[in-house]
Formats: sequence, C-alpha cells, structure tokens
Amino acid sequence: MNALNPSALHSAVFDHPEMGEHENIVFVKDRDSGLNAIIAVHDTTLGPALGGCRVWPYEKPADALTDALRLSRGMTYKNALAGLNLGGGKAVIIACPRKDKSQDMMEAFGRHVDRLSGTYITAEDVGVSPEDMEAVARRTDHVRGTSATGLGDPSPYTALGVFEGIRASARHVFGSAELDGRTVSVQGLGHVGFDVARQLADAGAQLVVSDIHAPAVERALDAFGAAAVAADQAHCVDADIFVPCALGAGLNARTIPQIQARVVAGAANNQLQTPADGIALKRRGIHYAPDYAINAGGVISIALAKPGEDDGRVREKTLAIGDTLTRIFERAAREDTTPERVADKMAEERLAQSGN
Ligand code: NAD
Repeated sequence: MNALNPSALHSAVFDHPEMGEHENIVFVKDRDSGLNAIIAVHDTTLGPALGGCRVWPYEKPADALTDALRLSRGMTYKNALAGLNLGGGKAVIIACPRKDKSQDMMEAFGRHVDRLSGTYITAEDVGVSPEDMEAVARRTDHVRGTSATGLGDPSPYTALGVFEGIRASARHVFGSAELDGRTVSVQGLGHVGFDVARQLADAGAQLVVSDIHAPAVERALDAFGAAAVAADQAHCVDADIFVPCALGAGLNARTIPQIQARVVAGAANNQLQTPADGIALKRRGIHYAPDYAINAGGVISIALAKPGEDDGRVREKTLAIGDTLTRIFERAAREDTTPERVADKMAEERLAQSGN
C-alpha cells in the first residue's frame, strides 16, 4: 500500500479551497463492491444533514472532494432558508453510473451511511435511480425519497415552487403576479422544466421553449402551442421572464449582456457562473431569484413527506417559497445588494439563531 505523506494529505484535504466549517468528512473504500465514496457532513445545527448521493465518474479524487464539500455546504444553506429543521450534507460515489454502479455498491454505501448513526440522511441525486436508493435502504433507515419513505419523484414539487417563485418575482418587478400575456422563455424541458412550462401555459403566458433534446421541444410545442428557439438562444429571447431549467453556469459574462428579460427565475442549480455574475445582473436591472431559494420544493418534499400522509404539508411549505423570495427581493432593494447575498445572509441568520 502507498503511504501518503502526512503533509500532502493535510494540504489535499484540510487546505482544500472548498473546505469550510465542515463537521465530518468520511472517505469510504469498500474492496468487495468497488465502492469509493466521500460523505461530507457540513452542518448539523438545525438537524441531521440531508443531501443527495451523486454517482459520477470524477476524473480525479480531488474533483470528487470539491463536489462533496461544495454541495454539502449548499445543502446547509438550502435547508436553512427553506425553514427545514435539517442540516446540510452530500455524498459522492466515484463511479460511472452506467458502467460501474451495482446493487452491491449501493448496499455498501448504505452500510456506511448507517455507521453515521443518522447524522447524515441520504437521497437521490445525479446518477442515482429509485432502484439504487431501494438498495441503500436495505442497509440503513437514514434514507429519504424512496417509495417507502415519501412521495417519490420530487420534480413536481420543485416545479410547483418554481412556478410560485416566478409569480412572486413578477409581483415584485411588474407589480402583479398575473402571468396572463407575459412572454416567458423556458430553457430545458426535462422533469422540472416541462412541468413549469405547463403551469405557465395554464396561467396564460406566451411560451418560448428550448432544449438540446429535439423530442422534448416537440412535446412542448404540441402540448402548449409554444414557439421554439435554439437552446443557446433562450436567454436572448425578447421575453419578460427567463426561466433556466437546464444545467448550471448559464448566467455568465457572455450571456448576461444579451438577456432581454427583467426577471430570471428558474430551477437550474448553480445558475451564476461566478459571484460577479450576480452583481452584473443587478447592474443591468435584472431581478434574479436565487436558485437554491426557488428550487427548494424537491428537498421540501423529500424532507417532510411521511408514509401514508397526503402531500398537504409539503405543498404548503413549497408554496411559501413565493413569500421567501418576496422577502429576499425587498431586503435586497433596502440594502442595495444582490438577492443571492440576501439569501445567504438569511440562511446564516437562521443558523446563528439556532446555534445560540
Ligand atoms: P432533467 O435532466 O430531467 O432535464 C434537464 C433538461 O435540460 C433535459 O431535457 C436536457 O435535454 C435539457 N438541457 C440540457 N442542457 C441544455 C441546454 N444547454 N440548453 C437547453 N436544454 C438543455 O433535469 P430536471 O430534473 O428537470 O432538473 C433541471 C434543473 O433543475 C437541473 O439543473 C437540476 O439540478 C435542477 N433541480 C432539479 C430538481 C428536481 O427536483 N428534479 C430540484 C432542484 C434543482
């Protein structure tokens, strides 16, 4: 076995640029199943750390550590702002979801989650299927989002919260939450984007849709009588509202000067490529709904659903996303700062109050 030089280990882990106030970082190696994973518990001030498990073929272990550290911190903020009594954590498994993943591997992961005695609760994320989570659940009770523990697919709740967030954004910027007659550009028509588009169409919005997957566009054109635009032009549409529901980093130095909409409010995670992009949006008078505030419906459904209960409580908490966004926008205007900075502050204030 290669002995790792202690100072190299120290700089690789403890001096990692994403290392914050993480409480616990577990490196897992299970020889029999081939599992290589990192479980990062960022903060348990508000409760056990809830955050999904991602399976991804990271090129280097350092990239996996970066993701685990950054995503677990993000979950602390998302759960705190959503008013959940949960902390933030995340797990990453270094494997190709199509070639390397196995039921044995997921069961081994479940055993290691169980060893953390409930300080970390896992759920689905990129590269993980409902069947994988059932395998994890055979080895630990500290799982959410399985058929036995909840409401199943969280996407409809994410979409519900995003739609409510769009209405709150419209109310703040245009003086009315009414979307009838507003032009809205929806980028990405997957699980969340399609459902948001459906609610927008029902509310009378004129839709311009885009996706890199042509059948998804066809489906939306058929269902909503929408217009289509090339996926890389979605942000340039002469629309009132731009709704990014594809991948992250879509708001950047190239796209921001081309945005026509006065509101950007969508489901995609990590929409701002850098913090400077939030400032650039503000300078252009574009109102940005912070991603982790508007897309929290999914985690709310995972966190609060109870077997045998209807979704009333989950819907109520998800619909409150609109009020949270209104508070964020009003405070950002008062403090002459960006909405995402206010969202961070509000999450930090909740953590500080609870920690006293
Ligand atoms: P999905 O994979 O079902 O859909 C994504 C869609 O975006 C696909 O149709 C894909 O073809 C399309 N796409 C990819 N790149 C594109 C591009 N450059 N331009 C246009 N379209 C593109 O994913 P989803 O579950 O709908 O999630 C959408 C976004 O919302 C992701 O960023 C995800 O992280 C975020 N999110 C999802 C949930 C949830 O509950 N599913 C919760 C919180 C955040």
